[in-house]
Amino acid sequence: MPPAPGQLTFSAPRRGKPPRHLADLTTPERAAAVADLGLPAFRAKQLSTHYFERLVTDPAQMTDLPAARRQEVVEALLPTLLTPVREMAADGGATRKTLWRLFDGALVESVLMKYTGRVTLCLSSQAGCGMNCPFCATGQAGLTRNLSTAEIVEQVVAAARSLAAEAAEGGDAGPGGVEQALRVSNVVFMGMGEALANYKAAIAAVRRMVSPAPEGLGMSARGITMSTVGLVPAIDKLAAEGIPMTLALSLHAPDDELRDELVPINTRWKVGEALDSARRYFEATGRRVSIEYALIRDVNDQAWRADKLGTELNRRGRGWVHVNPIPLNPTPGSRWTASDPQVERTFVERLRAHGIPTTVRDTRGRDIDGACGQLAASDLQQPREGAPSPVGPGPVGLGLPSPTAAG
Ligand code: SAH
Repeated sequence: MPPAPGQLTFSAPRRGKPPRHLADLTTPERAAAVADLGLPAFRAKQLSTHYFERLVTDPAQMTDLPAARRQEVVEALLPTLLTPVREMAADGGATRKTLWRLFDGALVESVLMKYTGRVTLCLSSQAGCGMNCPFCATGQAGLTRNLSTAEIVEQVVAAARSLAAEAAEGGDAGPGGVEQALRVSNVVFMGMGEALANYKAAIAAVRRMVSPAPEGLGMSARGITMSTVGLVPAIDKLAAEGIPMTLALSLHAPDDELRDELVPINTRWKVGEALDSARRYFEATGRRVSIEYALIRDVNDQAWRADKLGTELNRRGRGWVHVNPIPLNPTPGSRWTASDPQVERTFVERLRAHGIPTTVRDTRGRDIDGACGQLAASDLQQPREGAPSPVGPGPVGLGLPSPTAAG
């Protein structure tokens, strides 16, 4: 069921669990799992090397494992979790979106973006989302279920594999050259879902990403960004994890009246509380916080709101935060559209005048619905008629396909 306006969904409907996977397990759990298969503990490390370091799940390539057992070990610990349904490319191949089918038919998307010297993967942490922001395509479809740790990690491994395959083919390694194109350097939890509402799995996935190989992928925590609507207790918990990743707070309005509507979680935790927790996150981690602000024409883009945002941020200190305005990507059926470029410039200038570092987020992948807030896998199941209409009459959400269309 699509959620009613403002309705929040915190716990995912109960569904069957995805099969257990090596990436779900800590190092001691991996040793126990191979012991259950009657194998010595060191096999767990070999298996981890294949998966996290070599990105391999093909038993034939695991020549250091006993030939007679390989198949069985792979079936038990490296089951297929994601099946590609569709790949779409934009920006001359520099942006690629993949639609994945999960074991139970649920659909999620991830978007790979190549830049000079870095590669960013935007991944999903839930199938759907329960936070119901009216301008976000995912939010309109409601929450299907939480992803498991391994389903999150697999998105990174799949991206790494595709980059490696591309480099091996001698294809376009990107402007940074083969060396840099080979690695996913950045991960942003900005695909489908509110990761902090799927806290345990999301944090475990981050731990797999940052653990050195072969335990994990050996990524830098600094390259990982956790984006949230502002679940204050979860932000405080995250600050205490001791992982120096970046926090992004989806603010979108500096005043409670408007934010109550744009980000319904604001009816639980107010702007002031969300900003206070963001500031505490900075103090605990030393990581500068990002404030996300989708600029919506005549809704939240007034100069006075830029001033109010600047004042609210500076009230909590200097040098702890930067702002990322994002031109709204209109979703089908939405009555909202992006701000006028001149209005956007003024908004940015006002913030900078308050001394707030401000950078407008690029909108990679707009034409493949791969840009911020456009991920709505259920939508993809049905061919859409024509291009998404930026402005439409009536309440938000009218005319959107039913989320049950995805099955
Ligand atoms: N649940 C997380 C991740 C969501 S997607 C969160 O809310 O932060 C990442 C960012 O894209 C969020 O800041 C979200 O508010 C923003 N976003 C969603 N829909 C958008 C749209 N249509 N145009 C621009 N940004 C959008």
